Amino acid sequence: MKVHHVDCGTMCPVSARLVNGRGGWFEPATMVCHCLIVEAGDGLILVDTGLGTADVEDPRRRLGGAFKVATRPKLLREQTALAHVERLGFRRQDVRHIVPTHLDLDHVGGLSDFPDASVHVFEPELRAATERATLQERSRYRPAQLAHGPKWVPHAIEGDSWMGFDRVQVLGDDVALVPVVGHTRGHCAVAVRDGHGWLLHAGDAYFFHGEVDPVSPRSTPGLAFFQRLVAMDDVARRANQVRLRELVRDHGTDVRVFSAHDPVELQAFA
Ligand SMILES: [Zn+2]
Repeated sequence: MKVHHVDCGTMCPVSARLVNGRGGWFEPATMVCHCLIVEAGDGLILVDTGLGTADVEDPRRRLGGAFKVATRPKLLREQTALAHVERLGFRRQDVRHIVPTHLDLDHVGGLSDFPDASVHVFEPELRAATERATLQERSRYRPAQLAHGPKWVPHAIEGDSWMGFDRVQVLGDDVALVPVVGHTRGHCAVAVRDGHGWLLHAGDAYFFHGEVDPVSPRSTPGLAFFQRLVAMDDVARRANQVRLRELVRDHGTDVRVFSAHDPVELQAFA
C-alpha cells in the first residue's frame, strides 16, 4: 500500500527550548499533526485526521479557547486532511475508512470532512469520549467535532498479537489497532504495512523522538510535564513507552515507529 505522511495542523506553543529541546526559551515551538493517507485497494484510509476545515473556520466553538491559547495552532485550510487528499488527486468520497489513534480534539477535527467514512476506534476510547466522565475528559473530547454523527465501528481486544503486542485487526492484513493506553483510556497505535515493511503510528503514546531511543531514552522538560499532566493512567503510559522502546530495539529495521506531534519524525518521511 502506498502511504503519504502529512501534517494536518501545525501548532506553535511556547517555548522551542522546552518543547523541542532546542532553540530559544521564548521562540515558538513546532508541533505537527502527523497523519497518514493510505492508498488501499478500494479507496483511502486515514490514520488520524488532525484539525479539519470546521476547526479552521470556527476554532473557538470547535476547539475551545484553552487549546487555542496553549498550542497556538496555525489553522490553515491547506493543512487539513481534506486539502491533502484533494492535492493528491482524490475526492473526499474516496476516504472509506478512518482510524484515529484516539479521540482527542487534535486528532479528530477532520472527521466531519469525511462524514461517509467508517471510523474505527478502540471501544474504551469511544466510551470515554461519549461519557466525558472527568473534568479533563470534558475539555479534551469536544462534542462539536463529533456532532455530525461519525459512522463508528467500535473494536474490542481479541487477544491477537502483533510484534508482541495485543492487537485488533481492523482492516484486513495490512492495518491493525494496537492498544497502548495511558494518554487516554482507549489510546491505540495503528500499524500499517507499506511497501517497505510496517509503520507504527504511535499517536500520543509518546511526544518526543528521543523517548523511544532504546539506548538513551530522553524527553524535553515541556513535553515530559505535559504528558504527565494529561495522562489518564500515567503508570500504563510509562509501561507502554517501555514496550515501544523494546519494539524499536528488537524490530527497529522492520517497524518504523513515530508519534503524532514530533516534527523531526515527520521530516524523516519527507
Ligand atoms: Zn495529540
